[in-house]
Amino acid sequence: MKLSCCSLIPFLFFSTVSFAAERPNILFIFSDDHAPHAIGAYNGWLKSVDPTPNIDRLAAQGVLFEQSFCTNSICGPSRAVILSGKHSHKNGFMNNGNSFDWNQQIFPKLLQKVGYTTAIFGKSHLKGEPQGFDDWAVLPGQGLYYNPDLITPKGRERIEGHCTDIVTDLAVEWLKHGRDDDKPFMLMVQHKAPHRNWMPAERHLNLYDDIDIPQPNTLFDKWHDNAPPARFQELEIDRHMHLTFDLFVDLHPGFEGNAIRGRYDKSAWHNMQRMSPGQLKAWHDAYGPKDEAFHRANPQADELVRWKYQRYAKNYLRCVKGVDESVGRLMETLEDLDIDENTVVIYSSDQGFYIGDHGWYDKRWMYEESLKMPFIVKWPGTVEPGSRNSTHMVQNLDYAETFLDMAGAPIPSDMQGKSLVPLLKGEKPADWRESIYYHYYEYPSVHMVPRHYGIRTATHKLMRFYQFDEWEFYDLENDPDELANEYHNPDHAGKIAELKRELEQLREYYQDDSDVGVMPEAWQAEMRGSTRLN
Ligand code: CA
Repeated sequence: MKLSCCSLIPFLFFSTVSFAAERPNILFIFSDDHAPHAIGAYNGWLKSVDPTPNIDRLAAQGVLFEQSFCTNSICGPSRAVILSGKHSHKNGFMNNGNSFDWNQQIFPKLLQKVGYTTAIFGKSHLKGEPQGFDDWAVLPGQGLYYNPDLITPKGRERIEGHCTDIVTDLAVEWLKHGRDDDKPFMLMVQHKAPHRNWMPAERHLNLYDDIDIPQPNTLFDKWHDNAPPARFQELEIDRHMHLTFDLFVDLHPGFEGNAIRGRYDKSAWHNMQRMSPGQLKAWHDAYGPKDEAFHRANPQADELVRWKYQRYAKNYLRCVKGVDESVGRLMETLEDLDIDENTVVIYSSDQGFYIGDHGWYDKRWMYEESLKMPFIVKWPGTVEPGSRNSTHMVQNLDYAETFLDMAGAPIPSDMQGKSLVPLLKGEKPADWRESIYYHYYEYPSVHMVPRHYGIRTATHKLMRFYQFDEWEFYDLENDPDELANEYHNPDHAGKIAELKRELEQLREYYQDDSDVGVMPEAWQAEMRGSTRLN
């Protein structure tokens, strides 16, 4: 078509305007340690508790990804993967003890370049001052549940209240009055909850008091079939979850009955010491009678495990309830501001979690409960409301690419994930990945989960605990709870050999040349025998 000068000008003008109008705002709501099976819409065994009506409402308006996985199941590294679009060995943040290099390429900086305004409120967990954000207020380290400090560009301030509510307040205020409303925005609302040590808001302290939380089928798993590393971890409800430190039994000012106090002074105790008199009274009014009932019943052995599980699951779900209410408030704010139709809303969490599954709490493993991440996306006019994607494997590795694609920004070639926009549009790309790569590095460390890497396909999982030269293989279709390690079953030898080849291809593809050597026998023997039981 031949265009005259006069016909080209209105074409260009129209094109520019429609491009700007099409670029959506992005609201990324992110929590810490919220397992998919603690979300009603994921239909897990906690669904009967109805833990998340607002997140379920978001799912009813968007798409829920069932095959959603992290690359390294731990807090800081997951966030670094999200910002960089690169695996841990490429972005450099492999363990929580690392410091993130904020000078590297991260998607918020790239969104700023194409005209987005960006903000982050809540938990960063990457140390250092955030870069790539026009506005920010982040918790130092893990942050505190009650009356937390926040670090802002102006310095450090303490804000009264519960952390989940404070982070929501900051985000709502920014949406209403803080942002440059001439620009599309990327707002990251990153909650501390429901991370350990689980301290719910005052209004949730008695939630679930009158019900029994369902128990996972694997609460009393003894890991008979696993490779040895699963038996020398330290994240059991039975032997490692501490009544005082984790569950706040008899936690009150002046309580000196437990030597663990000094060791953990910066956490629960520390937070308790800065609670206001009113907050403390509400806490003790709620937990005093529960503690008295515990002492009267004096449960032992398996009964004690069941009691600890109930206390733990209730406090965890009480913290989840606060996050769910935050999602509701944020969605209502978008509606009040009449920007909900042009705002993508995402709910995710940095990894999954064990809620008594396999007898555990915490995360780290490549087993299903901690490998899976919730990922729900509402995108009016693009995503089919109430849809579920149960076939495509997605990872936090894909988020940066997806956000850039939504904004019409170029995706740098050194990012390692894929834009999920085609999937969000309901397309079924023929060349989508058929396996994911995983690598966890933090050992020896808290909870003592050995380093491992592995591959998961739609039907199988192969993992290598390389320091101990141990392998595990699971047939997920026939054994979704991963109770039967079939690595030494000759019937699977062909499949295992195939997955080993594919695993090596993934390691090459992602250029993971980090050290995966077997440790000397003497070291292995020492580590197998070491246990730091509380
Ligand atoms: Ca986490």
